[in-house]
Amino acid sequence: MVEICALASGSNGNCYYIGNQKDAILVDAGISRRQILERMNRVRLDPFKVRAIFISHEHRDHFRGVRVLSKHLNIPVYMTAPTYENSWTPDRPSQYRRFVPGDIVDVGEMKVHTFSKQHDAADPCSFRIEQGGINVGVMTDIGKPCDNVIRHFSECHAVFLESNYDEDMLWSGPYPWHLKNRVASEHGHLSNHQAFELLENHRTDSLEVVYLSHLSAENNRPDIALEAFKDLSAACSVRLTNRYAPSEIYQIKNEMVAR
Ligand SMILES: [Zn+2]
Ligand SMILES: [Zn+2]
Repeated sequence: MVEICALASGSNGNCYYIGNQKDAILVDAGISRRQILERMNRVRLDPFKVRAIFISHEHRDHFRGVRVLSKHLNIPVYMTAPTYENSWTPDRPSQYRRFVPGDIVDVGEMKVHTFSKQHDAADPCSFRIEQGGINVGVMTDIGKPCDNVIRHFSECHAVFLESNYDEDMLWSGPYPWHLKNRVASEHGHLSNHQAFELLENHRTDSLEVVYLSHLSAENNRPDIALEAFKDLSAACSVRLTNRYAPSEIYQIKNEMVAR
């Protein structure tokens, strides 16, 4: 059994939980320790099951709570060397463990597959967590679906997938031009449409659930994002994440995967 939950998701803070009966990991810690613990408590997840935190890149919406949280839980934080070196010094955790994209890190029975992606950070990575044939992807902050993203995504039974912006809202919205261009570039973020295309073209038949993640506050709306995925609602469960509250927990059972 694998349980997943988006504790926070959006351009102001990201933190994703993946765990089994014994162990768990967090991907990113972009909200405060207090908020992460409060949200875990709200959905009855045990923070002391968390064995490690994996950081996707140094942007503060993924990083800001990691030093204090890792110290509180006394657990290691995995990231690449360029991510560490480009992070804001006061935020850096003391229990830093280095990985190189492509490494597979064992955490109890879970295997964390690390891989490079395209985004405007020093060494941006995403993760696929595998356990007993179950695969969970955490894939946000992606300029475009590169071969790595497509390959790992196509194995996922559950995925937190970036659905950052609606194209009409971005181009007619309040952002200055340089920011609009940055968001839409190959090193920016995935639009609702790009995320839908990735799903339509590369999902496996065993994909059970997609959590639309990292929605922009200015350039997207939950109802518009959901609408963009309505053609997939028969194939898998499409759910929203939230910047202010944890998502519901989803459980993936081994029997379902084996069918
Ligand atoms: Zn981000
Ligand atoms: Zn980012």
